[in-house]
Amino acid sequence: MSLRGRYLRPTSYARRIEEIDIEALRADGIRGIIIDLDNTLVGYRLNEPDAKVAAWLDQATRAGFQAIIVTNNATDWALQTAQNLGVPCIPNARKPLLRGFHAALAALGTSSEETIVIGDQVFTDVLGAKRFGMKVILTEPIVAREEWWMRLTRFLERVALYRSPRT
Ligand SMILES: [Mg+2]
Repeated sequence: MSLRGRYLRPTSYARRIEEIDIEALRADGIRGIIIDLDNTLVGYRLNEPDAKVAAWLDQATRAGFQAIIVTNNATDWALQTAQNLGVPCIPNARKPLLRGFHAALAALGTSSEETIVIGDQVFTDVLGAKRFGMKVILTEPIVAREEWWMRLTRFLERVALYRSPRT
């Protein structure tokens, strides 16, 4: 397998987190969910999570999944938003470095085989998950309006994923 396939290609894709089939995750042996915050759970610089996102999280929790937010964001906004969602949060995680993922697995009490990462960025969420040997679902970013450096990142992501099969 190419380096790109090994490190940058997600296990699968979803348009939005609430479109991920919770029962399919369970059938796959997943018990823990590590979720990105910005543009995966909540739109860029928005304060309130979407009702559908909150309902999906609630459904996952009631189905017995352990969930935790791992975000590179370190602002009060991030902590407050995670608190509003009722999900524990590891801020300032420096994805794709492994420290935040280590801390998340310890908090979840799950192994990397039983844990899936859900996020919207290739070079943080996907790369970090795959370095750890975890499955990862790449979502589309919730809000399109972004800073120039985010638009550059999106361009580089498309280059990195070019010719990878969409499943
Ligand atoms: Mg994100």
